[in-house]
Amino acid sequence: HFHSPPPRAWKKIFRQLILLALGILGLLRFGLPVLRHLEVLLPMGVCPLARMPLLRDNFSGPLDPGAQPEVLTCTSWGAPIIWDGTFDPDVAQQEAVQRNLTVGLTVFAVGRYLEKYLERFLETAEQHFMVGQRVVYYVFTERPAAVPRVPLGPGRRLRVERVARERRWQDLSMARMRAASGARFVLCIDVDQHFSGAFGPEALAESVAQLHAWHYRWPRRLLPFERDARSAAALGPGEGDFYYHAAVFGGSVAALRRLTAHCARGLRRDRARGLEARWHDESHLNKFFWLHKPAKLLSPEFCWSPEIGRRAEIRRPRLLRAPKEYALLRS
Ligand code: UDP
Ligand code: MN
Repeated sequence: HFHSPPPRAWKKIFRQLILLALGILGLLRFGLPVLRHLEVLLPMGVCPLARMPLLRDNFSGPLDPGAQPEVLTCTSWGAPIIWDGTFDPDVAQQEAVQRNLTVGLTVFAVGRYLEKYLERFLETAEQHFMVGQRVVYYVFTERPAAVPRVPLGPGRRLRVERVARERRWQDLSMARMRAASGARFVLCIDVDQHFSGAFGPEALAESVAQLHAWHYRWPRRLLPFERDARSAAALGPGEGDFYYHAAVFGGSVAALRRLTAHCARGLRRDRARGLEARWHDESHLNKFFWLHKPAKLLSPEFCWSPEIGRRAEIRRPRLLRAPKEYALLRS
């Protein structure tokens, strides 16, 4: 005279399945940005030199690695990581003027990137890049006549170098060094960004690598290095210090020659085997900096992605990346 009780267990499982499905949907929809915000909870490590009085650097004058205690301000091999507050911009400026430097800035503007980005890049570089130093811009393009005529300050020149519009534009970036030998130090910077704050001689060194804004807080073994052992860019398990961004790198002309030769060799070798490294020339750049440690690292302030949102330690972004529009721009 009474019905058997409803299958409670089934009801429970059903409810749990619905929750699980909602959870997965929510994670797919909102999860990645949320993970990004949780990333700030991962400690970056502390510079052991931060307790020492002052670190010196030939280009920035005295450095204070203790000035930003919540981030890593030097590497295990003793290279400074330049954050806002760890250097005095006026002293850096004086040191550079005394050394009577000419700083080169190479930039590629091929295809639609020329009209889309180059003018703003150069205009904002005039406002913020190595102000008070002698500067030579080296613009690489297949259409020199289309390069915008941006008014330049005293002591600043622009040279246009024609490059053939190669089918595989990634390879082009390795031709950068051919022309840039007029300068003592050179920075190689992607065009799809603009300067937003002082980018001065504190960024110079014998070799300079840029901490990637999307990866600077990730655990080392999750970094997106090339892991396929067949590639010349491969890093083994446990290898790799930081993930560096190919959108900004630099150094002396001799150091950059070594770097570009290494990357060109790796790209060629991979191609001969029918391979392409995970992040193209950036993978080879990361391999190079693993083998030949950079003398200086730039904090993500020197190449920041506004999509990441606000971060307490990013006080003064100096260069801001434009959002990606691959479909529109690449052909
Ligand atoms: N580039 C270019 N024309 C192109 C593709 C790339 O001039 O059609 C240059 C440009 O300087 C650009 C850089 O190569 O900033 C890197 O390419 P992209 O920005 O597309 O790469 P990602 O942002 O994915 O690293
Ligand atoms: Mn880009």
